[in-house]
Amino acid sequence: MIVVFKGDGIMYANVIIQYGNKAVDREFTYIIPIDFRNKIKIGHRVRVLFNNREIEGFVLSIIDDYNGDYELNEIISLVDEEPILNEEMLYLGKEICDKTLCSKISAYQVMLPKALKASESTNIGIKKNRYIVLNVSMEDLDDYISKCRFENQISILNELKIKKRLLLKNKVSGVDTLVKNGIIKFEYEESYRYSTNVSGRYRIVNLNQEQQNVVNNVNLLNHDTYLLYGVTGSGKTEVYMELIDRVLKMEKTAIMLVPEISLTPQIVDRFVTRFGDNVAILHSGLSDVERYDEYRKIMDGRVKIVVGARSAVFAPFKNLGIVIIDEEHTATYKQDNHPRYNAKDVAILRGKYNNCPVIFGSATPSLETFARATNNVYKLLTLTKRAGNGKLPLVNIVDMKNEIKKGNFILSQMLIDKINDRLSKQEQVILLLNRRGYSSMLTCRDCGSVLKCPNCDISLTYHKSSNSNRCHYCNYSVRDIRVCPECGSNNIKDYGLGTEKLEEELNKIFKARIIRMDMDTTIRKGMHEKIINDFGEHNYDILVGTQMIAKGLDFPMVTLVGVINADTSLNLPDFRSAESTFQLLSQVSGRAGRSDLAGEVVIQTYNPGHYSIRYAKGHDYLNFYKEEMSIRRELCYSPYFYITLVNISSRDYDLGFKEANKIGDYLRKNLSSGTRVLGPSMANIFRINNIYHYQCIIKYKKDDKLKKVLREIDNIYKVNSKVDVDVDVDPVRI
Ligand code: ADP
Ligand code: ZN
Ligand code: ZN
Repeated sequence: MIVVFKGDGIMYANVIIQYGNKAVDREFTYIIPIDFRNKIKIGHRVRVLFNNREIEGFVLSIIDDYNGDYELNEIISLVDEEPILNEEMLYLGKEICDKTLCSKISAYQVMLPKALKASESTNIGIKKNRYIVLNVSMEDLDDYISKCRFENQISILNELKIKKRLLLKNKVSGVDTLVKNGIIKFEYEESYRYSTNVSGRYRIVNLNQEQQNVVNNVNLLNHDTYLLYGVTGSGKTEVYMELIDRVLKMEKTAIMLVPEISLTPQIVDRFVTRFGDNVAILHSGLSDVERYDEYRKIMDGRVKIVVGARSAVFAPFKNLGIVIIDEEHTATYKQDNHPRYNAKDVAILRGKYNNCPVIFGSATPSLETFARATNNVYKLLTLTKRAGNGKLPLVNIVDMKNEIKKGNFILSQMLIDKINDRLSKQEQVILLLNRRGYSSMLTCRDCGSVLKCPNCDISLTYHKSSNSNRCHYCNYSVRDIRVCPECGSNNIKDYGLGTEKLEEELNKIFKARIIRMDMDTTIRKGMHEKIINDFGEHNYDILVGTQMIAKGLDFPMVTLVGVINADTSLNLPDFRSAESTFQLLSQVSGRAGRSDLAGEVVIQTYNPGHYSIRYAKGHDYLNFYKEEMSIRRELCYSPYFYITLVNISSRDYDLGFKEANKIGDYLRKNLSSGTRVLGPSMANIFRINNIYHYQCIIKYKKDDKLKKVLREIDNIYKVNSKVDVDVDVDPVRI
């Protein structure tokens, strides 16, 4: 950005500041002091005075004219040498703000690691290694050594003669004197605090014909969005890596997004094996300093590839050559708090900006994406068969209604038999149960009451290992309940099944090495990786887990996958519940039989006739898609209609109700005639943490008035401290 001076006039910067109040979300003008007039650029992080407080913000524009009446302050200082936000990021921020209706400042902050966000204080520094090197010629050195009487100095200098440079970790006596005498000097070099290991297990393969065709059909010189629809194990990851390889040969850079959950050693291993230290890794398991280091590698051009979760889509690469989003149907690509951006939308913005392809990959694409591929908005690429010798697994459905009659409440006879069979063959088993904890609730057999969270409309989950009952929404927890809080009876019993209890049951039935992976066993840093590595090394026979284990894992010895209760996700009150059930079942089934050994799946359910389960059995995405689309059309849901959700919440039950109704009426009155407004109604979980939640659902094909109307509502409520209004455009769940 070149700043043009008009004579000797004063220069001004418009700065967006980080100030913890939604009502202050706009740019403020500051005078640029003469001292850094030549240095300041758009995107620079600056310190300014606001309300008598020193805070940070970003320069969004530089002007040479100010017509307002306020007396302006000067910018206090520049925080960094170079701008933090580049031109592309400034553009992305604007677009995100426009699409998601978020606050301006949050749209910029979300792109940055904590160390670079505008804030009141950050002390996440750069780590530098300190070295010593010689500072004199060889003759002078020999001269010094011959006169020197100190053993320690002589030995340092002799070592430096050979090695030229020494890393200084601790204080070494003699060094300071040598520096003071000008014989040696310090040298500093940035170091990075995150490192990955390569297992050596991954082999580079030759692409098969189908994979090659896919690669050749991607035009790397143009922007287009592609859907790579390929069954599980069809070698999509190999296709991604080949495409990235070609992008690197064009001297360009690549972003590879995977769901947070699959950022296991497995995918990282494959990328690091193939691309070496050209890869940065970004996921939520990194500490703030590690994240900052990885980010700097990208910013400084030291790496050309980033493999990361959602926010890695903002990686500040120059010369971007491709953006790939694997498992594109995953809900976590949409951030579920402000700013509610979807990484897929950002990927397309970046693809357009950089004129490069964007690839969405999945074995079970979201209906929205597949519909666009069908309409040629996206280009469809397909992989129809498994890449190696593996075949898609045989899927068995077990009706649990019959099993219960036989007294099998948790595991069906079929699943027990098949697990025994695999154990005898030294093969491995994965069992999915989408509920953590021990049991889902405690109930009193005398008065029938259920132990509920006092702050939320939800029953508490019993966790046996800590003997506590916890709310998974607000983290409320109560320990050691032995009598009913309602009637005092001690006749209380737990109902429902969680992973903790399942693990206990399995240990009773089988002589096997069992490991559990869910949120409770992976809280500690590195546990996630450790469990996966240990299971991969075959230190365990059975892996039990929540949906955490459904995605991305590739274990050749796994020949049986069991789904303990397919109904958990089916019963969610969301219009996408059939779709997510189909996706989950297909994904987890895809973990079986990925090598030469044939795989098999057992799905236990109370709804064996449900179409999402029937089609998952047949690996029949296309017919699932057809049937689900006709339902969506009938009920006017996405992808036939766009949806925007307006959430209204308040601690005050009556006030929330009143304001929600006002908002509902306002929407109905002011939106276009083709738009439908449903509600307000109570949200699925009406009370969370003692806050009451109402929602209005807006369905529309096209509505030019929508954004304006929503902004108006937002402007009214952002200064209301009693009622909160939160808009979610294209929600992933309702
Ligand atoms: P996806 O990402 O579609 O699930 P992967 O890329 O993980 O599939 O591939 C599944 C398995 O098949 C991996 O173990 C991979 O190494 C192997 N594989 C992929 N492509 C080939 C190929 N062309 N030849 C042999 N093995 C392959
Ligand atoms: Zn009771
Ligand atoms: Zn709660």
